[in-house]
Amino acid sequence: MDKINGEPLIPLVNVAQLLKEPVGSSRSYAVDGMLHEEIDGSVRGHFKLINTDRGILAKGALAVEVELSCSRCLNGFTYALEFEAEEEFLPTIDIASGLDLSPPEEADEFTIDSKNILDLGELIRQYTLLNLPMKPLCRPECSGIKEMNSYGTT
Ligand SMILES: [Zn+2]
Repeated sequence: MDKINGEPLIPLVNVAQLLKEPVGSSRSYAVDGMLHEEIDGSVRGHFKLINTDRGILAKGALAVEVELSCSRCLNGFTYALEFEAEEEFLPTIDIASGLDLSPPEEADEFTIDSKNILDLGELIRQYTLLNLPMKPLCRPECSGIKEMNSYGTT
């Protein structure tokens, strides 16, 4: 897989305008880029951002390809996964007054920062990590390093 240098094309969306629009207003965004450095992979897909009463609901369908190493034979391979994501991002300031809102009760809530930026990359990162296998295998029947070596000599 070719490496793309530079900024990943995963939108940091300014939702100031959307927050001022009526509840139910929405915008669509395409996602196509490299994942953050913690995960070696790429993502394609699309998101719809919808103004709810409380914040912005992000609904997306994503296809991710991640470079993993097999837990048995240690060879690298590309793992492809597809998933749908749906999370509500809550604002940290009041869009009308600019005043701080009290922080969400749960620390793992997704938030819109004080500049009204919603980070789709963070959502994609968390969903990708959740969907990765604990013990990745290059193929279901991979039998590991030993068998590979004995085949290799014939
Ligand atoms: Zn393997």
